[in-house]
Amino acid sequence: MRKISIFGATGSIGQNTIDLIRRAPDSYNVVALTGGANIERLAQDAIALRADIAVTAYDCHLPALQAALQGSGVEAAAGQTALLEAAARPADWIMSAIVGAAGLAPGLEALKHGTTLALANKESLVCAGQLLLQTAERYGARLLPVDSEHSAVFQGLVGEDIAAVERIIITASGGAFRDWPLEDLPKATLAQASSHPNWDMGQRITIDSASMFNKALEVIETKEYFGVRPDQIEVLVHPESLVHALVGFNDGAIMAHLGAADMRHAIGYALHWPERQSLPVERLDLARIGQLNFRAPDPARYPALRLANEVMARGGMMGAAFNAAKEQALDDFIAGRIRFTDMAVVVETVLEQMSGESDLIDAEMTLDNVGRVDHLARKQAARAAAERIG
Ligand code: NDP
Ligand code: MG
Repeated sequence: MRKISIFGATGSIGQNTIDLIRRAPDSYNVVALTGGANIERLAQDAIALRADIAVTAYDCHLPALQAALQGSGVEAAAGQTALLEAAARPADWIMSAIVGAAGLAPGLEALKHGTTLALANKESLVCAGQLLLQTAERYGARLLPVDSEHSAVFQGLVGEDIAAVERIIITASGGAFRDWPLEDLPKATLAQASSHPNWDMGQRITIDSASMFNKALEVIETKEYFGVRPDQIEVLVHPESLVHALVGFNDGAIMAHLGAADMRHAIGYALHWPERQSLPVERLDLARIGQLNFRAPDPARYPALRLANEVMARGGMMGAAFNAAKEQALDDFIAGRIRFTDMAVVVETVLEQMSGESDLIDAEMTLDNVGRVDHLARKQAARAAAERIG
Protein backbone atom coordinates (compact mmCIF):
# COMPACT_ATOMS: atom_id res chain seq x y z
CA MET A 1 0.00 0.00 0.00
CA ARG A 2 1.34 3.43 -0.90
CA LYS A 3 1.00 6.15 1.70
CA ILE A 4 -0.42 9.31 0.18
CA SER A 5 -1.59 12.75 1.30
CA ILE A 6 -3.60 15.36 -0.57
CA PHE A 7 -3.16 19.08 0.15
CA GLY A 8 -6.09 21.09 -1.19
CA ALA A 9 -8.23 17.93 -1.21
CA THR A 10 -11.52 19.86 -1.36
CA GLY A 11 -10.61 21.74 -4.55
CA SER A 12 -10.90 20.83 -8.20
CA ILE A 13 -7.50 19.08 -8.44
CA GLY A 14 -7.96 17.52 -5.01
CA GLN A 15 -11.33 16.05 -5.97
CA ASN A 16 -9.95 14.68 -9.24
CA THR A 17 -7.12 13.07 -7.28
CA ILE A 18 -9.61 11.53 -4.86
CA ASP A 19 -11.61 10.21 -7.80
CA LEU A 20 -8.55 8.24 -8.95
CA ILE A 21 -7.71 7.01 -5.44
CA ARG A 22 -11.28 5.83 -4.87
CA ARG A 23 -11.04 3.55 -7.91
CA ALA A 24 -8.23 1.55 -6.28
CA PRO A 25 -8.91 1.79 -2.53
CA ASP A 26 -6.73 -1.21 -1.69
CA SER A 27 -3.65 0.41 -3.23
CA TYR A 28 -3.54 3.50 -1.03
CA ASN A 29 -3.22 4.30 2.62
CA VAL A 30 -4.37 7.91 3.01
CA VAL A 31 -2.36 9.81 5.61
CA ALA A 32 -3.63 13.41 5.46
CA LEU A 33 -6.30 15.35 3.61
CA THR A 34 -6.32 19.14 3.88
CA GLY A 35 -8.83 21.80 2.89
CA GLY A 36 -9.93 25.30 3.73
CA ALA A 37 -13.52 26.38 4.31
CA ASN A 38 -15.32 23.39 2.80
CA ILE A 39 -15.49 21.37 6.01
CA GLU A 40 -18.32 19.06 4.95
CA ARG A 41 -16.43 17.86 1.85
CA LEU A 42 -13.19 17.47 3.81
CA ALA A 43 -14.80 15.44 6.57
CA GLN A 44 -16.80 13.22 4.19
CA ASP A 45 -13.75 12.36 2.12
CA ALA A 46 -11.50 11.85 5.15
CA ILE A 47 -14.00 9.37 6.56
CA ALA A 48 -14.60 7.60 3.23
CA LEU A 49 -10.86 7.26 2.57
CA ARG A 50 -10.07 6.40 6.22
CA ALA A 51 -7.47 9.15 6.43
CA ASP A 52 -5.34 9.40 9.56
CA ILE A 53 -5.88 13.15 9.81
CA ALA A 54 -7.95 15.95 8.23
CA VAL A 55 -6.66 19.51 8.45
CA THR A 56 -8.43 22.77 7.69
CA ALA A 57 -6.17 25.73 7.01
CA TYR A 58 -8.38 27.98 9.14
CA ASP A 59 -8.49 27.83 12.96
CA CYS A 60 -12.05 29.13 13.03
CA HIS A 61 -13.30 25.96 11.30
CA LEU A 62 -11.78 23.52 13.80
CA PRO A 63 -14.94 23.05 15.92
CA ALA A 64 -17.00 22.22 12.82
CA LEU A 65 -14.36 19.76 11.60
CA GLN A 66 -14.13 18.09 15.01
CA ALA A 67 -17.91 17.76 15.12
CA ALA A 68 -18.06 16.28 11.62
CA LEU A 69 -15.32 13.74 12.42
CA GLN A 70 -16.64 12.77 15.85
CA GLY A 71 -16.39 9.02 16.41
CA SER A 72 -14.87 8.37 12.95
CA GLY A 73 -11.34 7.72 14.15
CA VAL A 74 -10.03 10.50 11.87
CA GLU A 75 -7.98 13.11 13.73
CA ALA A 76 -8.96 16.78 13.24
CA ALA A 77 -6.56 19.71 13.18
CA ALA A 78 -6.44 23.33 12.00
CA GLY A 79 -4.10 26.17 11.13
CA GLN A 80 -0.73 26.72 9.51
CA THR A 81 1.28 24.68 12.02
CA ALA A 82 -1.09 21.75 11.61
CA LEU A 83 -0.67 21.97 7.81
CA LEU A 84 3.10 21.81 8.20
CA GLU A 85 2.84 18.91 10.64
CA ALA A 86 0.64 17.05 8.18
CA ALA A 87 3.20 17.71 5.43
CA ALA A 88 5.89 16.21 7.67
CA ARG A 89 3.99 12.95 8.16
CA PRO A 90 5.71 10.15 6.23
CA ALA A 91 4.12 9.60 2.83
CA ASP A 92 5.32 8.12 -0.46
CA TRP A 93 3.37 10.59 -2.59
CA ILE A 94 1.85 13.96 -1.78
CA MET A 95 -0.44 16.03 -3.99
CA SER A 96 0.25 19.76 -3.68
CA ALA A 97 -3.06 21.31 -4.80
CA ILE A 98 -3.61 24.25 -2.48
CA VAL A 99 -4.31 27.33 -4.60
CA GLY A 100 -1.89 30.26 -4.47
CA ALA A 101 1.31 31.07 -2.59
CA ALA A 102 -0.24 29.39 0.47
CA GLY A 103 0.84 26.08 -1.08
CA LEU A 104 4.54 26.90 -0.87
CA ALA A 105 5.31 26.25 2.81
CA PRO A 106 3.53 22.86 3.06
CA GLY A 107 5.13 21.75 -0.24
CA LEU A 108 8.58 22.73 0.95
CA GLU A 109 8.02 20.92 4.24
CA ALA A 110 6.93 17.77 2.40
CA LEU A 111 10.10 17.86 0.27
CA LYS A 112 12.22 18.06 3.42
CA HIS A 113 10.89 14.63 4.29
CA GLY A 114 12.03 13.11 1.04
CA THR A 115 8.62 12.49 -0.47
CA THR A 116 7.49 12.59 -4.08
CA LEU A 117 5.57 15.84 -4.46
CA ALA A 118 3.06 16.00 -7.30
CA LEU A 119 2.94 19.73 -7.97
CA ALA A 120 -0.31 21.22 -9.19
CA ASN A 121 0.44 24.34 -7.15
CA LYS A 122 2.36 26.19 -9.89
CA GLU A 123 2.49 29.31 -7.72
CA SER A 124 5.14 27.71 -5.51
CA LEU A 125 7.47 27.23 -8.50
CA VAL A 126 6.82 30.78 -9.65
CA CYS A 127 7.51 32.20 -6.17
CA ALA A 128 10.44 30.03 -5.20
CA GLY A 129 11.43 27.62 -7.96
CA GLN A 130 15.10 27.52 -7.08
CA LEU A 131 14.35 26.93 -3.38
CA LEU A 132 11.98 24.05 -4.16
CA LEU A 133 14.37 22.35 -6.58
CA GLN A 134 17.35 22.75 -4.24
CA THR A 135 15.34 21.41 -1.31
CA ALA A 136 14.20 18.41 -3.34
CA GLU A 137 17.78 17.66 -4.33
CA ARG A 138 19.14 18.08 -0.84
CA TYR A 139 16.60 15.75 0.76
CA GLY A 140 16.41 13.19 -2.05
CA ALA A 141 12.82 14.16 -2.78
CA ARG A 142 11.17 14.37 -6.20
CA LEU A 143 8.96 16.98 -7.83
CA LEU A 144 6.57 15.81 -10.53
CA PRO A 145 4.58 18.26 -12.65
CA VAL A 146 0.78 18.07 -12.61
CA ASP A 147 -0.07 21.17 -14.62
CA SER A 148 -1.31 19.64 -17.90
CA GLU A 149 1.20 21.49 -20.11
CA HIS A 150 4.15 20.62 -17.88
CA SER A 151 3.10 17.01 -17.53
CA ALA A 152 2.91 16.95 -21.35
CA VAL A 153 6.43 18.39 -21.70
CA PHE A 154 7.71 15.99 -19.03
CA GLN A 155 6.25 13.07 -20.98
CA GLY A 156 7.75 14.44 -24.22
CA LEU A 157 11.19 14.42 -22.61
CA VAL A 158 11.19 10.79 -21.50
CA GLY A 159 14.39 9.25 -22.89
CA GLU A 160 15.51 12.60 -24.35
CA ASP A 161 18.45 14.82 -23.51
CA ILE A 162 17.31 18.31 -22.41
CA ALA A 163 20.40 19.66 -24.22
CA ALA A 164 18.77 18.61 -27.52
CA VAL A 165 15.67 20.71 -26.80
CA GLU A 166 15.42 23.92 -28.82
CA ARG A 167 11.99 25.09 -27.75
CA ILE A 168 9.08 24.27 -25.50
CA ILE A 169 5.66 25.35 -26.69
CA ILE A 170 2.81 25.41 -24.20
CA THR A 171 -0.71 25.85 -25.47
CA ALA A 172 -3.47 28.07 -24.14
CA SER A 173 -7.17 27.86 -24.88
CA GLY A 174 -7.33 31.65 -24.96
CA GLY A 175 -9.87 31.62 -22.14
CA ALA A 176 -13.37 33.01 -21.94
CA PHE A 177 -12.66 36.20 -23.90
CA ARG A 178 -10.47 34.98 -26.74
CA ASP A 179 -12.97 36.12 -29.38
CA TRP A 180 -14.36 39.20 -27.65
CA PRO A 181 -13.79 42.64 -29.20
CA LEU A 182 -10.90 44.18 -27.27
CA GLU A 183 -12.93 47.24 -26.30
CA ASP A 184 -15.45 45.04 -24.44
CA LEU A 185 -12.84 43.51 -22.11
CA PRO A 186 -13.08 46.23 -19.43
CA LYS A 187 -16.79 45.38 -19.10
CA ALA A 188 -16.22 41.65 -18.52
CA THR A 189 -18.10 40.49 -15.43
CA LEU A 190 -16.98 38.03 -12.77
CA ALA A 191 -19.48 35.43 -13.99
CA GLN A 192 -18.25 35.76 -17.57
CA ALA A 193 -14.59 35.48 -16.50
CA SER A 194 -15.38 32.44 -14.33
CA SER A 195 -16.54 30.22 -17.17
CA HIS A 196 -13.90 28.33 -19.16
CA PRO A 197 -14.54 27.11 -22.73
CA ASN A 198 -12.84 23.70 -22.23
CA TRP A 199 -11.63 22.96 -18.70
CA ASP A 200 -13.58 22.54 -15.48
CA MET A 201 -11.32 24.09 -12.81
CA GLY A 202 -11.33 26.17 -9.64
CA GLN A 203 -12.61 29.75 -9.96
CA ARG A 204 -9.25 31.48 -9.54
CA ILE A 205 -7.40 29.57 -12.26
CA THR A 206 -10.41 29.93 -14.56
CA ILE A 207 -10.28 33.74 -14.31
CA ASP A 208 -6.49 33.55 -14.69
CA SER A 209 -7.08 31.65 -17.93
CA ALA A 210 -9.27 34.44 -19.29
CA SER A 211 -6.58 37.03 -18.50
CA MET A 212 -3.73 34.62 -19.39
CA PHE A 213 -2.13 35.27 -16.03
CA ASN A 214 -2.36 31.49 -15.72
CA LYS A 215 -0.26 31.06 -18.87
CA ALA A 216 2.12 33.76 -17.65
CA LEU A 217 2.64 31.75 -14.44
CA GLU A 218 3.09 28.62 -16.55
CA VAL A 219 5.80 30.22 -18.70
CA ILE A 220 7.75 30.95 -15.51
CA GLU A 221 6.93 27.46 -14.23
CA THR A 222 8.40 26.03 -17.46
CA LYS A 223 11.61 27.98 -17.03
CA GLU A 224 11.96 26.93 -13.40
CA TYR A 225 11.04 23.28 -13.74
CA PHE A 226 12.85 22.41 -16.97
CA GLY A 227 15.73 24.87 -16.61
CA VAL A 228 15.39 26.29 -20.14
CA ARG A 229 16.00 29.90 -21.18
CA PRO A 230 13.02 32.27 -21.47
CA ASP A 231 13.60 32.67 -25.23
CA GLN A 232 13.09 28.91 -25.67
CA ILE A 233 9.53 29.08 -24.30
CA GLU A 234 6.57 29.88 -26.56
CA VAL A 235 2.85 30.20 -25.98
CA LEU A 236 0.44 29.11 -28.69
CA VAL A 237 -3.30 29.71 -28.63
CA HIS A 238 -5.08 26.44 -29.36
CA PRO A 239 -8.83 26.79 -28.84
CA GLU A 240 -9.55 23.02 -28.71
CA SER A 241 -7.23 22.36 -25.69
CA LEU A 242 -6.33 18.91 -27.01
CA VAL A 243 -2.63 19.47 -27.72
CA HIS A 244 -1.25 20.40 -24.29
CA ALA A 245 2.37 21.12 -25.15
CA LEU A 246 5.01 20.52 -27.82
CA VAL A 247 8.74 19.97 -27.47
CA GLY A 248 10.95 21.03 -30.40
CA PHE A 249 14.34 19.32 -30.78
CA ASN A 250 17.57 20.34 -32.51
CA ASP A 251 16.87 18.04 -35.46
CA GLY A 252 13.66 19.90 -36.28
CA ALA A 253 11.34 17.27 -34.84
CA ILE A 254 8.44 18.41 -32.68
CA MET A 255 6.84 15.99 -30.23
CA ALA A 256 3.28 16.96 -29.36
CA HIS A 257 1.24 15.63 -26.45
CA LEU A 258 -2.48 15.18 -27.10
CA GLY A 259 -5.25 14.12 -24.78
CA ALA A 260 -8.69 15.00 -23.53
CA ALA A 261 -9.03 18.14 -21.41
CA ASP A 262 -9.28 16.12 -18.20
CA MET A 263 -6.87 16.75 -15.33
CA ARG A 264 -7.13 13.13 -14.25
CA HIS A 265 -4.63 12.34 -17.01
CA ALA A 266 -1.83 14.54 -15.64
CA ILE A 267 -2.70 13.64 -12.03
CA GLY A 268 -2.76 9.93 -12.88
CA TYR A 269 0.53 10.15 -14.78
CA ALA A 270 2.18 11.68 -11.70
CA LEU A 271 0.48 9.14 -9.43
CA HIS A 272 1.71 6.10 -11.37
CA TRP A 273 5.01 7.51 -12.64
CA PRO A 274 7.34 6.07 -13.85
CA GLU A 275 4.76 3.56 -15.07
CA ARG A 276 1.68 4.22 -17.14
CA GLN A 277 -1.57 2.74 -15.95
CA SER A 278 -5.04 2.77 -17.46
CA LEU A 279 -6.92 5.98 -16.63
CA PRO A 280 -10.65 6.78 -16.84
CA VAL A 281 -10.29 9.58 -19.40
CA GLU A 282 -11.92 9.99 -22.78
CA ARG A 283 -9.97 8.57 -25.76
CA LEU A 284 -9.66 11.09 -28.59
CA ASP A 285 -11.31 10.34 -31.90
CA LEU A 286 -9.25 12.58 -34.18
CA ALA A 287 -11.25 11.72 -37.29
CA ARG A 288 -14.35 13.03 -35.58
CA ILE A 289 -12.53 16.10 -34.20
CA GLY A 290 -11.35 16.80 -37.76
CA GLN A 291 -9.18 19.83 -37.21
CA LEU A 292 -6.97 21.46 -34.66
CA ASN A 293 -6.39 25.23 -34.74
CA PHE A 294 -3.43 27.30 -33.63
CA ARG A 295 -2.67 31.01 -33.55
CA ALA A 296 -0.23 33.39 -31.93
CA PRO A 297 -1.45 35.10 -28.74
CA ASP A 298 -2.46 38.74 -29.25
CA PRO A 299 -0.21 40.89 -26.99
CA ALA A 300 -2.89 43.58 -26.65
CA ARG A 301 -5.43 41.05 -25.39
CA TYR A 302 -3.00 39.25 -23.08
CA PRO A 303 -0.55 41.74 -21.48
CA ALA A 304 0.20 39.15 -18.77
CA LEU A 305 2.51 37.29 -21.16
CA ARG A 306 4.73 40.34 -21.63
CA LEU A 307 4.82 40.80 -17.85
CA ALA A 308 6.03 37.20 -17.41
CA ASN A 309 8.95 37.95 -19.71
CA GLU A 310 9.80 41.04 -17.67
CA VAL A 311 9.72 38.97 -14.49
CA MET A 312 12.11 36.38 -15.94
CA ALA A 313 14.44 39.08 -17.28
CA ARG A 314 14.59 40.79 -13.86
CA GLY A 315 15.24 37.51 -12.00
CA GLY A 316 15.74 37.26 -8.24
CA MET A 317 12.47 36.92 -6.34
CA MET A 318 10.46 38.89 -8.90
CA GLY A 319 8.34 35.77 -9.46
CA ALA A 320 7.09 36.00 -5.87
CA ALA A 321 6.24 39.68 -6.37
CA PHE A 322 4.45 38.92 -9.63
CA ASN A 323 2.40 36.11 -8.14
CA ALA A 324 1.47 38.09 -5.02
CA ALA A 325 0.44 41.15 -7.04
CA LYS A 326 -1.61 38.91 -9.32
CA GLU A 327 -3.31 37.20 -6.34
CA GLN A 328 -4.18 40.57 -4.80
CA ALA A 329 -5.45 41.98 -8.11
CA LEU A 330 -7.54 38.84 -8.59
CA ASP A 331 -9.02 39.23 -5.09
CA ASP A 332 -9.91 42.82 -5.99
CA PHE A 333 -11.53 41.78 -9.26
CA ILE A 334 -13.50 38.98 -7.57
CA ALA A 335 -14.66 41.45 -4.90
CA GLY A 336 -15.85 43.82 -7.64
CA ARG A 337 -13.36 46.55 -6.69
CA ILE A 338 -11.52 46.71 -10.03
CA ARG A 339 -12.30 45.85 -13.65
CA PHE A 340 -11.02 42.79 -15.49
CA THR A 341 -8.45 44.80 -17.46
CA ASP A 342 -7.27 46.62 -14.32
CA MET A 343 -5.63 43.42 -13.07
CA ALA A 344 -2.76 43.66 -15.57
CA VAL A 345 -2.35 47.40 -14.90
CA VAL A 346 -2.11 46.76 -11.16
CA VAL A 347 0.43 43.96 -11.60
CA GLU A 348 2.55 46.04 -13.97
CA THR A 349 2.59 48.93 -11.48
CA VAL A 350 3.78 46.57 -8.73
CA LEU A 351 6.52 45.12 -10.95
CA GLU A 352 7.79 48.62 -11.66
CA GLN A 353 7.85 49.48 -7.97
CA MET A 354 9.35 46.17 -6.87
CA SER A 355 12.15 46.18 -9.42
CA GLY A 356 13.67 49.07 -7.45
CA GLU A 357 13.55 47.06 -4.20
CA SER A 358 16.89 45.36 -4.80
CA ASP A 359 17.51 44.61 -1.12
CA LEU A 360 14.39 42.46 -1.12
CA ILE A 361 14.25 41.10 -4.67
CA ASP A 362 17.91 40.11 -4.86
CA ALA A 363 18.19 38.75 -1.31
CA GLU A 364 18.84 35.05 -0.71
CA MET A 365 15.81 32.97 -1.64
CA THR A 366 14.48 31.64 1.66
CA LEU A 367 10.90 31.02 2.74
CA ASP A 368 11.05 34.10 4.99
CA ASN A 369 12.39 36.34 2.24
CA VAL A 370 9.81 35.08 -0.24
CA GLY A 371 7.21 35.93 2.41
CA ARG A 372 8.60 39.47 2.72
CA VAL A 373 8.43 40.03 -1.04
CA ASP A 374 4.93 38.57 -1.13
CA HIS A 375 3.75 40.83 1.69
CA LEU A 376 5.09 44.05 0.16
CA ALA A 377 3.83 43.21 -3.33
CA ARG A 378 0.31 42.58 -2.00
CA LYS A 379 0.37 45.92 -0.19
CA GLN A 380 1.50 47.73 -3.31
CA ALA A 381 -1.11 45.94 -5.40
CA ALA A 382 -3.88 46.90 -2.97
CA ARG A 383 -2.70 50.51 -3.18
CA ALA A 384 -2.50 50.43 -6.98
CA ALA A 385 -6.00 48.92 -7.10
CA ALA A 386 -7.33 51.66 -4.80
CA GLU A 387 -5.90 54.23 -7.20
CA ARG A 388 -7.72 52.60 -10.12
CA ILE A 389 -10.99 52.93 -8.21
CA GLY A 390 -10.37 56.41 -6.84
P1 NDP B 1 -9.59 25.21 -6.01
O1 NDP B 1 -9.88 26.63 -5.69
O2 NDP B 1 -10.63 24.38 -6.64
O3 NDP B 1 -9.09 24.47 -4.68
C1 NDP B 1 -8.11 25.03 -3.86
C2 NDP B 1 -7.85 24.17 -2.64
O4 NDP B 1 -6.98 24.89 -1.74
C3 NDP B 1 -9.10 23.86 -1.83
O5 NDP B 1 -8.91 22.64 -1.17
C4 NDP B 1 -9.13 25.02 -0.82
O6 NDP B 1 -9.92 24.72 0.32
C5 NDP B 1 -7.68 25.12 -0.50
N1 NDP B 1 -7.25 26.44 -0.04
C6 NDP B 1 -7.67 27.65 -0.50
N2 NDP B 1 -7.02 28.65 0.14
C7 NDP B 1 -6.18 28.05 1.01
C8 NDP B 1 -5.24 28.55 1.98
N3 NDP B 1 -5.03 29.86 2.17
N4 NDP B 1 -4.53 27.65 2.71
C9 NDP B 1 -4.71 26.32 2.55
N5 NDP B 1 -5.61 25.79 1.68
C10 NDP B 1 -6.32 26.65 0.91
O7 NDP B 1 -8.25 25.24 -6.89
P2 NDP B 1 -7.82 24.23 -8.05
O8 NDP B 1 -7.98 22.82 -7.60
O9 NDP B 1 -8.39 24.68 -9.32
O10 NDP B 1 -6.26 24.56 -8.14
C11 NDP B 1 -5.33 24.08 -7.18
C12 NDP B 1 -3.92 24.33 -7.70
O11 NDP B 1 -3.74 23.55 -8.88
C13 NDP B 1 -3.66 25.78 -8.13
O12 NDP B 1 -2.33 26.09 -7.87
C14 NDP B 1 -3.92 25.76 -9.63
O13 NDP B 1 -3.19 26.76 -10.31
C15 NDP B 1 -3.40 24.38 -9.99
N6 NDP B 1 -3.97 23.80 -11.19
C16 NDP B 1 -5.29 23.56 -11.27
C17 NDP B 1 -5.86 23.00 -12.39
C18 NDP B 1 -7.31 22.64 -12.44
O14 NDP B 1 -7.72 21.96 -13.38
N7 NDP B 1 -8.12 23.02 -11.49
C19 NDP B 1 -5.03 22.70 -13.59
C20 NDP B 1 -3.63 22.96 -13.39
C21 NDP B 1 -3.13 23.50 -12.24
P3 NDP B 1 -11.53 25.05 0.40
O15 NDP B 1 -12.08 24.94 -0.97
O16 NDP B 1 -12.02 23.96 1.34
O17 NDP B 1 -11.64 26.41 0.99
MG1 MG C 1 -2.06 24.43 -17.12
